[in-house]
Formats: sequence, structure tokens, C-alpha cells
Amino acid sequence: MLKKKWGQHLLIAKGVIKKLVESMEIREGEVVIEIGPGTGNLTEEILKTPLKKLYLLEIDPEMIEILKEKFKSEKVIILQTDATQFDFSSLKESNLKVVGNLPYNVASLIIENTVYYKNFIPYAFYMVQKEVAERLTTTASWLAIFVQTFYKLSYLMSVPPRFFIPPPKVQSAFIKFERKNEVSLKDLKSYKTFLLKIFHQKRKMLKQKISEEILIEAQIAPTKRVEELSLEDFLKLYEIFKISN
Ligand code: SAH
Repeated sequence: MLKKKWGQHLLIAKGVIKKLVESMEIREGEVVIEIGPGTGNLTEEILKTPLKKLYLLEIDPEMIEILKEKFKSEKVIILQTDATQFDFSSLKESNLKVVGNLPYNVASLIIENTVYYKNFIPYAFYMVQKEVAERLTTTASWLAIFVQTFYKLSYLMSVPPRFFIPPPKVQSAFIKFERKNEVSLKDLKSYKTFLLKIFHQKRKMLKQKISEEILIEAQIAPTKRVEELSLEDFLKLYEIFKISN
């Protein structure tokens, strides 16, 4: 019944589920979205909190049937949808707490999509492959920079394979995204294009991808490589790049 193509690994450890939900600190009146609820193990625990409304975004029609059977509360709204492309603005809610034991094959896409809707999502909590979690907290990929520009990331806990059915081949980690307030950057598609451009062929020097004038104006040595830049460097560089393009 569990489908590999949709990354279905259900969390079964009650203790872990409890901890994950506790770490979300859901208060009275909050609106929560769960991505990939599956059979609803995490959902049940989330529903013990004093939330106002819980949206469930699930792609698998079989899971949708199970969820409808299980959760008849008026607080629960079940949507059959692809979370990699979900339009979070469509809910007309602006302070969403998003959580999910994500399907690992599309976790990066779901994270990228979360950032596009950052104005609606002050907090997100995702279970991802441990390696993905670790990479996201470094400056090693365009997505890591993209995320960290808008969110402060924290690593909440590691979760070993035995807590899932079927156990995934990799270690997992639960991470928290907390939106930063001060960021004024608006055109996210253009920012992504810029990041892809500098992360393309990582071993090349920056001057082979971006004009030396821009690099010098941003006070970055043109012979540096992308791995040597800090988050602040990226932001400074983008500001200047944006104006001159
Ligand atoms: N949260 C559940 C199940 C996690 S498994 C638990 O912890 O027990 C991942 C879930 O995401 C599955 O239910 C799968 O059907 C769903 N899923 C996979 N791809 C999806 C997508 N693109 N959009 C929404 N849900 C998806």
C-alpha cells in the first residue's frame, strides 16, 4: 500500500511524534498546514494542540480517503494537491505554521516553494534527509543561500531510520525555519537566477561568471570561488548585480 514514488515513510514512534509537535509550540488560534500527512500519525498529535485550523496537503488519493475517514473535525481541511507547487496565498491566511515529514525525493522543491510564499509562512518545520538538513545550514548550494536569506534555520533533532515504516535508507533530521524580518529583497525569481549563475561550475573563479567591476564594488576578490562567500557577500553582490543588470 505504501508507495515509493511518493516517498512514503510513515513516522511510527509516538515519542518522536510528540517531541516534534512540542517543538512547534502551537498556540491557541493558530493556523497550521501539514504537508504529506499520509495516514495521519503526525496529524493526530497536532490536533491535540489548541490550533484554530489545520490544512492537510496530500497528493495520494488513497491517503486522502484514509484521512477523510479519520479526521472529521471541522477544524481539519483536507486538500488533494501537489505541495511542490501549492499556492499558499490561496488560503487567505497570513500566519501559517507549516510542518511535514516530507517526501524526500521532492523535499528540496517543497522547501523552495515555501520560500516563494514566505510572506504567509513565518515558521516551517520539516523532516528531511539528514544530509539535506546539514547542507542547508552551510553555504554550499544555491538553495541553502536562498533559504538562509529569508529564514533562520535550526537543527532540532536527528531521527534514525527505525522510527519509520518502511525505514528509509538514510538518517533523517527535523529542522526549523524561522522567518527573518529585515529582508527587503523582492524579486525571488531573479534572485534564484543570480544564485544559479554563481553556483554554476563551482570551481571556477567568480570573475568568470560575473564582471570584475561588480565584484570589486562588492569588495569581493574576483579570484575567489563561490564556496568562499558568506551569506552577507551574496546579499551585497546581488544588490550591485541587480542594479547593473
Ligand atoms: N507525515 C506522514 C507521512 C510522511 S511520508 C507520517 O509521518 O507518517 C510523505 C507523505 O507525503 C506521503 O503521504 C506522500 O503521499 C506525500 N506526498 C508525496 N509527494 C507529495 C507532494 N508532492 N505533495 C503532497 N504530498 C506528497
